[in-house]
Amino acid sequence: MIYLDASATTPVDFRVVEAMMPFLLQHYANPSAPYAAARFVKKALETAREQVAALIDAEPDEIIFTSGGTESDNAAIGSAITLEMRRGHFVTVKTEHSAVLETARRWMEYGRPVSEVGVDHGGRVRLDDLRAATQSGQTALISVMWANNETGVVAPMDEITQIAHDRGAMFHTDAVQSVGKQKLSVKETPVDYLSLSGHKFHAPKGVGALFISRRVRFKPWALGGGQEFGRRSGTEAIPNIVALGMAAEIARQEIDRGVEEKIGAMRDAFEKRLIAVHPNTIVNGDQTHRLTTISNLCFPGVDAAGLLILLDECGLACSAGSACHTGDLQSSHVLLAMGFDDAHIRSTMRFSWSRMNTMEETLRAADLLIACVNKMRSLQTGVVRQN
Ligand code: PLP
Repeated sequence: MIYLDASATTPVDFRVVEAMMPFLLQHYANPSAPYAAARFVKKALETAREQVAALIDAEPDEIIFTSGGTESDNAAIGSAITLEMRRGHFVTVKTEHSAVLETARRWMEYGRPVSEVGVDHGGRVRLDDLRAATQSGQTALISVMWANNETGVVAPMDEITQIAHDRGAMFHTDAVQSVGKQKLSVKETPVDYLSLSGHKFHAPKGVGALFISRRVRFKPWALGGGQEFGRRSGTEAIPNIVALGMAAEIARQEIDRGVEEKIGAMRDAFEKRLIAVHPNTIVNGDQTHRLTTISNLCFPGVDAAGLLILLDECGLACSAGSACHTGDLQSSHVLLAMGFDDAHIRSTMRFSWSRMNTMEETLRAADLLIACVNKMRSLQTGVVRQN
């Protein structure tokens, strides 16, 4: 299999598996227990917290561990809205992940006002609309994702942070697709809450973290034994947390060594080879503000659902629309918000890379894709084309 679906999930790094194994087999004590074996586990927990904090330039006491991006998004939004019972207005964007949009809708059911701001054709939030929607004294929270999981389009984070803070609102960002791929600093971009997820950067599924700035308060929704500074009760998932720490450490080193550019070279070579043969291929999303890990491509006239099946038969794993949902092929809400019509969306595929991909397999994948697009076009029109 050639795996070009790294935005859905990534393979676990073997060094991460090695780091977590002793905490499954030997060091199983509960970190809150009063004996030496527990203190050892507690120390590992705090080391992981330091490693995750370092990845986003935060302080360790600003990090709590969660079960992943979904929980972090739910917890941050729920905290901000319940802290601000009187001014519970929430502003978000139409292209957010469902973990944010569904949470917003739930709060609407509870009678909270929610505004969903639109994006331009490149997928970037309309800042004037965001400014107009955010009201001083009423808006408790703005939530805008750092980079979009379907298109890779990166939001203007500094401007959004400024808009939120100028109006006395807090700012949460779902940075699930950015963390571990891009260098980012919560000191340089002073967001208040930030969600991240381990399985997007070579840790196991089911572990993530929420950054909560020292500047803001936090109202927990998981109540109980008071773990994680009283902010997320429940016995900590130590093996997963140790794994997340190691994945963060490796990701930080890789980013310093230029992994972003290395992945970008593969993505660009892939697009170049495809477009050379199929010049009518359309790259969806703003190309100057885009993660290097994602390519969202429209092959006009080609049925993406059929293409996905052909590619699967050839051993190429990728996705049509967002794989984070259910694997079904509903029209992507992200592409709809960007103003694309159903025909365009039905011809769109997402390819995504991690550091575990190689240039060789990337070029092989491009050739497979070229052949499959030809086949689809010939099946759909009855004309056979040679390339
Ligand atoms: N937010 C974004 C942008 C994502 O891409 C995903 C992907 O699954 C999530 C949130 C959910 O994260 P998790 O699977 O860790 O719950």
